[in-house]
Amino acid sequence: MIVYKFGGASISNIERIQQVIQIIENIEAGEKAVLVISAMGKTTNALEKVVDAFFQQKATEALQLFEVIKQQHLTVAKYLLVKEYNTCYARMIDIFTEVEWLLHDKPVRAYDYYYDQIVCCGELLSSTIIHFFCKENGLNTQWIDIRDVLLTDNNFRDAGIIWDITAQKAQQVFLNTAHSIYITQGFIGATTDNESTTLGREGSDFTAAILGNVLEAKSVSIWKDVEGVMSADPKMFKEAVYIPELNYNEVIEMAYYGAQVIHPKTIKPLQNKHIPLLVKCFLNPSLPGTIIHNAKHLHFPPIQILKDKQVLITFQSLDFSFIGGQSIQNIYAFLNALKLIPNLIQFGAISVQICLDDKAEKINELAMLAAEKFDVQVQKNLQLFTVRHYTAAILNAMNAEENVVLRQQTPITLQILKLQKQ
Ligand code: ASP
Ligand code: MG
Repeated sequence: MIVYKFGGASISNIERIQQVIQIIENIEAGEKAVLVISAMGKTTNALEKVVDAFFQQKATEALQLFEVIKQQHLTVAKYLLVKEYNTCYARMIDIFTEVEWLLHDKPVRAYDYYYDQIVCCGELLSSTIIHFFCKENGLNTQWIDIRDVLLTDNNFRDAGIIWDITAQKAQQVFLNTAHSIYITQGFIGATTDNESTTLGREGSDFTAAILGNVLEAKSVSIWKDVEGVMSADPKMFKEAVYIPELNYNEVIEMAYYGAQVIHPKTIKPLQNKHIPLLVKCFLNPSLPGTIIHNAKHLHFPPIQILKDKQVLITFQSLDFSFIGGQSIQNIYAFLNALKLIPNLIQFGAISVQICLDDKAEKINELAMLAAEKFDVQVQKNLQLFTVRHYTAAILNAMNAEENVVLRQQTPITLQILKLQKQ
């Protein structure tokens, strides 16, 4: 069993979908494969606008926005399909109707619930089109509604996986039948009450890893529009290079510091079962891509990551007492309550400094909560620059940087927090 994940960019237009079919056709005969499909292009962003309009009780606007998404998908299906068009059309209409029914109601439940019921149609539509296009090309694929397999709690928009039931269902659905190529959706799941859920933006990578784990896949491949994992964003760093081999730990570190490589939740399910993760280029499938596995003693180039929109919060004890376990516990209780994860922490004698993503509302709440126990200062408009495996030249350059408000260094990682250029 192998798992392939195709992201939104790889199926954003007709030519790309045709390219993806070639990759599917090249799966070796006799190999079982699960193909995890994201929504086409920027569909999820467009669906988010539908949810916003609906929730603000602008029903006509919501329906109009949805109509545009419908027409885009119908156009793609019409272009790609001849024999299979009618069956595909009927399936798509079912998916549209489900959303339209909901849009005709008034919102009475929480925003996140509606978000998941509406946004999930992006993946249902794209996977339906790809499935029928495979059939049109003579591939005997089987379409699976992942909501019958991937069961979650009802923490809408960030649903937690119910692993034991998911494993059981996935094995029943994907392993016990004669089919060899399955097409299903990334990013979405369902509660045991059959309500749709989503796993958080960019969650399709995570779906591929979950299925890889429970089906004990040989490998999981993520098909992207880049050669493989890069050492930095090539748009910002001319010295960015492609990295052929990485290990799980390095990728987790990279994701933590803000590299937009792979959804951070993807690694653990694969690492636990020693399943290699391949990052492959759909524009040129013959390129080797990047392999991420358990390798030790790898030599890495300097990996550079910029994270914008950071804030630095300084918590200083009110009575000038030393910072001890109790103060740290208090700070962590506030962070946990608001589901905030620090990007960097520095301890001083009477203060703790924490760098966080600037989610303005939550930062205000945190500052208010903490003000009872600390003197709190908030500094905004910062940028966190992290370099792993830095060289002497990079060290010198970073030492010469101006407007630095915090600096941290270990033998492997060097970080500076500096004022963001406006
Ligand atoms: N379609 C979803 C998103 O755009 C999930 C994904 O692409 O992984 O966030
Ligand atoms: Mg995507």
